[in-house]
Amino acid sequence: MTPTFDIAIIGAGAVGCAIARELARYELNIVLLEANPDVGMGTSKASTAIWHTGFDAKPGSLEARLMRRSYALMDPFMPEAGIPHERLGAILIAWNQEQLDALPALRQKAHENGVLDVEIMSAEEIRRREPHIRPGFLGGLFVPGEGILCTYSVPLACATQAVVNGVVLMTNFRVKEIREERAGYLITSNEDSLHTRWIINAAGLYSDEINRMFGHQVYTVTPRRGQLIVYDKLARPLVNHVLLPVPTAKTKGVLISPTVYGNILLGPTAEDLPDKTATQTTTDGLEMLLGKGREILPQLLDGCARLVPPGDVAALASALRETLEQPEASRAMAAKARARCLENYTMAHVGATLREVIRKVAPGLK
Ligand SMILES: Cc1cc2nc3c(=O)[nH]c(=O)nc-3n(C[C@H](O)[C@H](O)[C@H](O)COP(=O)(O)OP(=O)(O)OC[C@H]3O[C@@H](n4cnc5c(N)ncnc54)[C@H](O)[C@@H]3O)c2cc1C
Repeated sequence: MTPTFDIAIIGAGAVGCAIARELARYELNIVLLEANPDVGMGTSKASTAIWHTGFDAKPGSLEARLMRRSYALMDPFMPEAGIPHERLGAILIAWNQEQLDALPALRQKAHENGVLDVEIMSAEEIRRREPHIRPGFLGGLFVPGEGILCTYSVPLACATQAVVNGVVLMTNFRVKEIREERAGYLITSNEDSLHTRWIINAAGLYSDEINRMFGHQVYTVTPRRGQLIVYDKLARPLVNHVLLPVPTAKTKGVLISPTVYGNILLGPTAEDLPDKTATQTTTDGLEMLLGKGREILPQLLDGCARLVPPGDVAALASALRETLEQPEASRAMAAKARARCLENYTMAHVGATLREVIRKVAPGLK
């Protein structure tokens, strides 16, 4: 027999799973439908994983209100659900006078958004906190509340709590058709179907397609791809905060951020594309990121290696040929990489960093 629900939530990303968790508190028969084999496999698996305060949202906007509310809710929820997170603080770095002049307005905006601890930071203080940033910055804006979190765990934790509290999760269920019935809707995938009184559209990038299944043509989602470079854990001692550029009207720009797993992230790009499935990396995208990364934190790569996009056999062959045909340049690169390792990643250096962390979190520990 075709099952019947009160509510069907389409899409088990961060949004759909959070809705399912919240609605699980009520006496309702709820199903969470996901096209992928698991929850959180859409955009939610691939964010930059920043826990935003909402300091830079447009004051008074719905986004500003929701970000403040979500920040406050995530604060107790993450420890309760065991979601790895860390409130590192973010620094927006001003590299020229124009960016420096923009900081007071950004601080004012943050204060209007209720993020009252945002302060302008001197170049000396930034240098003290982030000794590896390229010299030349003029100052910055410190946002102590910004943090990092585990982007995979958020939908997973919400879905787990929802399912424990009675929500039915159906994975590998790609909604193909929605038909209106007398008392609600009939939803069908390739193999299954179900009845529901209400539908919540949480299909992310594909929410416009779900919307069209109701016969509406209200909006179109244009995908924006963000490529990221994930650095090895050896690079972690180079960065202590989330490092952001001063945003422009068009983009928030490329950031450098530690991850909760102890890596460093560099990115994202921001590319408007027609294809929602185009999640691959590109040479241009990675090179652009490396250029930006080098400008902020020269030690991240700078002349230590030849970069090849994953899976690009032709590029790998070309890099190997260059390495063999230019032995002197290759030797210089290797020497530079070795010097960098000795400078930053020896056991003694990592040990000193670790001691400093322990001193900060447990000052009394001998
Ligand atoms: C590069 C990048 C960096 C970002 N960085 C941050 C950040 O640092 N901090 C932050 O807070 N946010 C960040 N975001 C934004 C954040 O990732 C998204 O807002 C969030 O993940 C969206 O969640 P969602 O549930 O709406 O969408 P999704 O995670 O895409 O979930 C939608 C789900 O619907 C499913 N679905 C679609 N169609 C169907 C169908 N027909 N039938 C069944 N299921 C279907 C999909 O499979 C998917 O699992 C970033 C986004 C990008 C792209």
